[in-house]
Amino acid sequence: MDAPNVIPKHWDQEADIVVVGFGGAGFATAVTAHDMGADVLILEKAPQGEEGGNTKVAGQGYLNTSNENDAAAYLTALCGHYEVPDIMIRAWAYEMCLNNDWLSSLGADPQEHQHQPVGIEFPDLPGANCVHKFHDGPTYGYSLTWKRFYSLVKQRPIRIEYESPAKGLVQNGSTGEIIGVRAVRNGSTITVKARKGVVLTCGGFENNQQMIRDYLPDLPYCYTSGSPYNEGDGISMALSVGADLWHMNNFAGPSMALKVPEISTTFSMQAFQYNKELPGGAIAVGPDAKRFIDEKRKTCHGKLPMHGTWKKLPTPCPMHFIFDRTHMTTGPLWDGTPSHGWTQIVEQYDWSDDNSKELEKGWIKQADTIEQLATLVDLDSQSLASTIKEWNDGCTNGRDKQHGRTMMLNPIIEPPFYAIEMSPSMLNTQGGPRRNEKAQIVRPDSSPIPRLYSAGELGSIYSYLYQGTGNIGECLAFGRIAAKHAVAERPWQ
Ligand SMILES: Cc1cc2nc3c(=O)[nH]c(=O)nc-3n(C[C@H](O)[C@H](O)[C@H](O)COP(=O)(O)OP(=O)(O)OC[C@H]3O[C@@H](n4cnc5c(N)ncnc54)[C@H](O)[C@@H]3O)c2cc1C
Repeated sequence: MDAPNVIPKHWDQEADIVVVGFGGAGFATAVTAHDMGADVLILEKAPQGEEGGNTKVAGQGYLNTSNENDAAAYLTALCGHYEVPDIMIRAWAYEMCLNNDWLSSLGADPQEHQHQPVGIEFPDLPGANCVHKFHDGPTYGYSLTWKRFYSLVKQRPIRIEYESPAKGLVQNGSTGEIIGVRAVRNGSTITVKARKGVVLTCGGFENNQQMIRDYLPDLPYCYTSGSPYNEGDGISMALSVGADLWHMNNFAGPSMALKVPEISTTFSMQAFQYNKELPGGAIAVGPDAKRFIDEKRKTCHGKLPMHGTWKKLPTPCPMHFIFDRTHMTTGPLWDGTPSHGWTQIVEQYDWSDDNSKELEKGWIKQADTIEQLATLVDLDSQSLASTIKEWNDGCTNGRDKQHGRTMMLNPIIEPPFYAIEMSPSMLNTQGGPRRNEKAQIVRPDSSPIPRLYSAGELGSIYSYLYQGTGNIGECLAFGRIAAKHAVAERPWQ
């Protein structure tokens, strides 16, 4: 592929605005730009049917804040010491109050979640009451908000090129302007001219293990329950034309999940949340065969309050869930309801009711004694036995002295015994190229890279704490901002 500043002699396709990635941010950008009169082309990496990115498999909630000043105060507090310039906070706060108005004007059907105020993730922070979570139509989940976004794009003459991953940006070497995109289709490079601007909406680096090791704190590896197509391409492309990065260490996670080689995304499991009303229950142990957490404790998107601050859930790898026959026989250990998650919605994995298929596949390990189980999963047998004794004693006394767990205090005593290896998992990353209040991607000196914009989780505004539904809310807000400014550009000569 040519260097970024070699201008192609021939363009295979062209549009006023080239949008890279068809998820929530791509939708908001494309529809806004189209409705302002622009000719729009979307490049999408996934094949038709697997577009939509994390947006398609999300819980489907989006944030619509009720009051601009409160929204600004809340976001400022969410950022903590990882400050975001006030001008950005204000741009976010202003637009986040308009999400419903905009969607309604397009014919969508915003419905507020029914579990308010539980949905406020950090109720003690200033301005928290501004949080209002919405979804499209009467039912929450099941890709329904995404289906609305998708149909709004399809109703318009917006071109979508599937299986056409963007690989590089074309930069005019003398002006620094981004004038197009290089993508790959059917194994060949194609050049796409962007007469006014390029908007990167291609998600985060959830599936790029090198970036995960480089940027996410204390994670040797981590897997996602979202789209497998988000591999940090937008970060590499933006870096190659001089962009600054921000919020690279922030992500919505971790949680603990099963990851198997056959399937690219995770099986989310929080010590078997699915079975919480049933007998049984698992404990989680680290490589030293010791417990490290109250397995049933709910996190705020992977963060826990600790000593007056918020820290990510510890994930000493490899981790194992350990449980006994009582738990194994309570029903399926994974909930495949297709309400959210790539494994449920796109892979549609069919977990066996009695867990026998997964046992046979070796995803679940079984042994007659704790000692044999320890050997099977490479843990010290004495340490595991003593951890289980301590746990069982706590269950008998009704008190988990180590970690204060209060739910599912059930002893692990009924053979056979089982183990499942757990990996750190996440919903999405927040880092990426730094953008300004006009959604322009900027260089380290804060000057914008001409004609290059971004929206969505690629370089998201969230720097420290994350309010659920904030990502899709931001896709809508910054998608509109990016489109408005990109469409206002004069076509390059
Ligand atoms: C299970 C789950 C539940 C969640 N629930 C919620 C929720 O309820 N509310 C909320 O606000 N957030 C939620 N999130 C987070 C939220 O879904 C994402 O942060 C948000 O949808 C990201 O939108 P996006 O448009 O930036 O990226 P995505 O929706 O991920 O779209 C990116 C698109 O870019 C494409 N792409 C990638 N690389 C390239 C390339 N090189 N060229 C072309 N195309 C490319 C991808 O295939 C994809 O289609 C959840 C996430 C998960 C995984």
